[in-house]
Amino acid sequence: MRILLLGGTTEARALAERLSGHEVISSLAGRVREPVLPEGEVRVGGFGGAAGLAAWLRAERIDALVDATHPFASTITANAHAAAREVGVRHLVLRRPGFPLRPEYDVVPDAHAAASAIPAGARVFLTVGRQQVSAFVHADAWFLVRAIDAPTVLPPRHVMLLERGPFQMDDEVELMQRHRINLLVTKNSGGDATSPKLNAARALGVDVVMIDRPPLPEGVEAVDGVEAVLARLGQSG
Ligand code: NAP
Repeated sequence: MRILLLGGTTEARALAERLSGHEVISSLAGRVREPVLPEGEVRVGGFGGAAGLAAWLRAERIDALVDATHPFASTITANAHAAAREVGVRHLVLRRPGFPLRPEYDVVPDAHAAASAIPAGARVFLTVGRQQVSAFVHADAWFLVRAIDAPTVLPPRHVMLLERGPFQMDDEVELMQRHRINLLVTKNSGGDATSPKLNAARALGVDVVMIDRPPLPEGVEAVDGVEAVLARLGQSG
């Protein structure tokens, strides 16, 4: 099969490796300055919306489109759904499970709601990705901001940490203690690479504001891991 694999995640890289018996083209948006590249052929950059992606699928004679993008990358996921329908190619979404939710978490629908949920004077560990930091510029709080690349807009009182996971629980505990963090604000991205911050928050009694995932487009076929993608693609021959 000729497969377009929409990536930018750990799972997409694992999948690219496991699909080596097929002709796989991995696609990255080009957001990260020095991305970790998957095995095999890679293209970088947007397609030009759903219509652009549909045209690309036709031109490249793609048989199956696997969307293994980040759970918060909702625009490309909607576009992939629409384009696959239009062209009539097999379409599958790999969506990793979310973080286990605890009753004490303050679950909010988006970054602006998360910013509103921050009490005045809080010392916040902010791990929402570079693109969402701008929602927090007016919050009356101090921020430890962690992202892979530096955000263009930052809250006035902050320390910036440019780091890429996986992270370890001991290091997360030490980091939060050193900066006297009393609130963790994060997206419900899921994944082992970034979950230790939640265990550290629990161990230290640090409150958690969790931004909920955007919903998947209605009617998409979604599975939660690499093995399940392989099984479904195997079934479709
Ligand atoms: P998004 O808001 O859903 O997409 C915005 C636009 O970026 C899309 O319309 C598309 O442009 C382009 N795009 C996104 N993913 C692409 C891909 N894999 N290949 C080609 N073009 C892509 O996406 P995002 O949240 O900015 O995420 C961008 C990339 O970073 C994704 O690959 C995602 O897996 C990865 N990522 C995102 C997050 C996050 O928190 N959002 C975290 C980690 C990794 P056109 O309309 O021109 O096609």
